[in-house]
Amino acid sequence: MTDRYAVVGNPVAHSLSPEIHAAFARETRQDIGYGKLLAPLDGFSAAIETFRAEGGKGVNVTVPFKFEALKFCNQPGPEASDAQAVNTLDFRDGKIFGHNTDGIGLVTDLESGLGFSVRDKRVLILGAGGATAGIMHPLLSARPHQLVVANRTLDKAHDLVARFTGNERFALTKITASPYEALNAAFDLVINATSAGLRNEMPALAEGIFAAGALAYDMVYAQHTPFLAFAQQQGARTSDGLGMLVEQAAAAFEIWRGMRPQTRPVIEMLRTRTVRA
Ligand code: NDP
Repeated sequence: MTDRYAVVGNPVAHSLSPEIHAAFARETRQDIGYGKLLAPLDGFSAAIETFRAEGGKGVNVTVPFKFEALKFCNQPGPEASDAQAVNTLDFRDGKIFGHNTDGIGLVTDLESGLGFSVRDKRVLILGAGGATAGIMHPLLSARPHQLVVANRTLDKAHDLVARFTGNERFALTKITASPYEALNAAFDLVINATSAGLRNEMPALAEGIFAAGALAYDMVYAQHTPFLAFAQQQGARTSDGLGMLVEQAAAAFEIWRGMRPQTRPVIEMLRTRTVRA
């Protein structure tokens, strides 16, 4: 029997997840099927229940259902609890386990893919939406010296930061929130976790936020965003979020199948294709 998985979202047509998981399944010789499930905006629970009742083994959850998915699972993992958002549901032993692999995907891409160690670094995250919530726990676990969350709507950055300050596990990192216009220091790593790049925009950043040798990382993938162009002009090294996308999928695959697929060939395959397109 082929085990069935899917990515659930609205919209979902653009998702690369079926291709990524098909490549993982070929490489690891796992007999799985992986499709796209478009759920109505008010129909996430019904879509999940139907898929599960029909024998589905798990789903990836994407926009806009990551927050709703947390309420749906019996047991959330620590990253999902801290993020209050879930991107992977695992249907197992009559229960629904919830995970958030976005942050693990990011940190794996930074450290293994790009050779950038987060430890003791000054890190700036732009944006305070669902993506930022998902990466906070794994990023802090990598023990940066400082973590600043900047956002247009400052209250959201404060709320997010408040969830992590005072947590003894992350006591070695100074965690603060800031408006963009108050940023006046240099950072070793600047992560653009806003959706601004999708509309060819970027947050209002002053020159001088990139330290010498800094890495600028845009979570948007397969696009040369205004943020990446600005970072290049400032002399920073740059990366888009394609590696993160594949690494978060690999972490989900490992949760479901108990084995870690290779990610480098899949990133290269998708990179070649998106450069050609
Ligand atoms: P949300 O809608 O939850 O949050 C969007 C964020 O972007 C908010 O902080 C918002 O600020 C900010 N923003 C939007 N437009 C602008 C602008 N013009 N100037 C400044 N700030 C802006 O989205 P998510 O957090 O879920 O996703 C963010 C991005 O990350 C998306 O582009 C998504 O595709 C990408 N992503 C990539 C992944 C990967 O694997 N590579 C995984 C997950 C997400 P405000 O609060 O003020 O409105």
